[in-house]
Amino acid sequence: MRTDTIVALSTAPGISAIAVIRLSGKEAITITNSLFKGKDLSQQPSHTIHYGSLQENGEILDEVLISVFKEPTSFTKENIIEISCHGSEFIIQKIIKALIRNGARLAEAGEFTKRAFINGQFDLTQAEAIADLIHSDSEASHHAALNQMRGGFSKKIAALREQLIHFASLIELELDFGEEDVEFANRDDLQKLLQELLTTITKLTDSFQMGNAIKNGVPTVIAGKPNAGKSTLLNALLNEEKAIVSDIPGTTRDFIEDEIHIEGIRFRFIDTAGLRNTTDTVEAIGVQRTKEKLKQASIIIYLFDVSQTTQVDLEEELTEINALSIPYLLVGNKADQKHSTFTMPVHYISATTGEGIEELKQLLTRSIHTKAYKASDTIVTNLRHYQNLKLAQDSLSQALLSLSQGITGDLLAMDIRQALFYLGQITGEITTDDLLSNIFSKFCIGK
Ligand code: GDP
Repeated sequence: MRTDTIVALSTAPGISAIAVIRLSGKEAITITNSLFKGKDLSQQPSHTIHYGSLQENGEILDEVLISVFKEPTSFTKENIIEISCHGSEFIIQKIIKALIRNGARLAEAGEFTKRAFINGQFDLTQAEAIADLIHSDSEASHHAALNQMRGGFSKKIAALREQLIHFASLIELELDFGEEDVEFANRDDLQKLLQELLTTITKLTDSFQMGNAIKNGVPTVIAGKPNAGKSTLLNALLNEEKAIVSDIPGTTRDFIEDEIHIEGIRFRFIDTAGLRNTTDTVEAIGVQRTKEKLKQASIIIYLFDVSQTTQVDLEEELTEINALSIPYLLVGNKADQKHSTFTMPVHYISATTGEGIEELKQLLTRSIHTKAYKASDTIVTNLRHYQNLKLAQDSLSQALLSLSQGITGDLLAMDIRQALFYLGQITGEITTDDLLSNIFSKFCIGK
């Protein structure tokens, strides 16, 4: 049980109307009380707010509002004090220093959330979702983080794990009987459960591509020969985005160069500087630098000039694109001009007239909606979850294989134990100090 009391600024640093300094720990109320001139905070009920001033050695630090949350009904399940003071760096520093002199210590990154997790407020995926929520910058990433914070993802994992624990204990029981040939765990039922688990987990691991796209944006490259119209297309896409963003009242700085949002998903165009400034820096495919750029892409828009390209030309260009094994959309530009027809599926656009651009955007989102993903499905956005799910998947496949080959109980038990371990790591039922400090160090101080 921790006894030290931590303190940190919980709002963003810098000048603001109000700043919130937060304390958590056994002595949070006592420490604040020693500086507070107003009511006796220790006598106040939980979830109440009090006006007064903070004073040290007769000097007034600030006039403040103090919120009191008592254990165990607070965020960290410890005593929590939130001090709303004036948002000056100077005042904030003075107050925090005075609190430290009176017995608090500065919180580490993510320590409030870590305490909440350790005290059982939520599981590990929900704690991680808080960090994602704070950093979410698109509708889809916000939605995914919120869903995860509410436990959508971990409830599913926890339920699966429960069922598996049941079977694991039956098999362990069989092992206790040693030589005697008993089977408490019905092998058919076990096989059915393992298969069900694998299907669910596979769906979750498959969702990661989508999840990753939601969280980090989809790296996209527009490739093609010089004069295909790449910079014209990019400008058409980005200018439209710029127009959309500036149409929203109150947005001044939200337009991010080289990104567009389609249906809440962010597409990041890679290395577009060269594209926009000049046309002759754009090398034909085959040049090393272009290849490097293409390798970073999750999706390529391969653009060609339909008025200057024949079926044979296109086939030749596509051999190199195919060799990359990165999904691509084949887009024929300058469809406003006279052109030949092609046997492969080509999406026709005109970057100058805007024809086909809306449909191209739809094609882009569809290209990352992999493997029958539905908007209502649970999506894995976190690499750590994905890696553990993959490992659990391997152990489960191994268990299924052992089962079908009639392998003895102890090997089967080992595979199942391993799967349980990996699933437990996701929700935090099984943790190590390294894992926890790795996760929480990614939070900011004060979170
Ligand atoms: P890049 O070298 O691939 O970046 O090609 P650019 O975007 O610089 O375009 C090359 C030329 O094609 C420019 O003169 C554009 O105005 C023209 N162009 C681009 N898109 C179209 C289009 O859809 N129709 C027509 N007619 N011309 C286009």
